[in-house]
Amino acid sequence: MGCDRFHTQTLLVMAVLVLVCVISCRKRQSPTAPLPPPTAVGTPEAEKTAEPVQKSERKEYRAVALSGCVIVEQKGSRLRYVKKCESCGHLPPGTVGTNIPSKGAKLTSSFRCPKCGKTQKIVIQGTE
Ligand SMILES: [Zn+2]
Repeated sequence: MGCDRFHTQTLLVMAVLVLVCVISCRKRQSPTAPLPPPTAVGTPEAEKTAEPVQKSERKEYRAVALSGCVIVEQKGSRLRYVKKCESCGHLPPGTVGTNIPSKGAKLTSSFRCPKCGKTQKIVIQGTE
């Protein structure tokens, strides 16, 4: 049975080859491979030139209600007003928020009074 022997021989050779490969691999890896030193982070930190934030530049806006509304709150560049009917004095519930107009500029709007039915014009003028 030459065929069987040939088979066992090739198996043996293969086994040896595998063994040699494994051993050589182990030999290559087993000795504590000198680990590359931890990459020293030597990048100098960029100096942050902290610029002082000028808060004094924040402008205060002001506005006056010329007609059709009553300003109830002014905060920064925003204001809140309630509508007011100049004909009957009715104040519809709810406030309206809007940007304060720049100095001299007028903000106009209008609403229909739910009480007397008249159309009331809202005018708000920026003063500062
Ligand atoms: Zn009215």
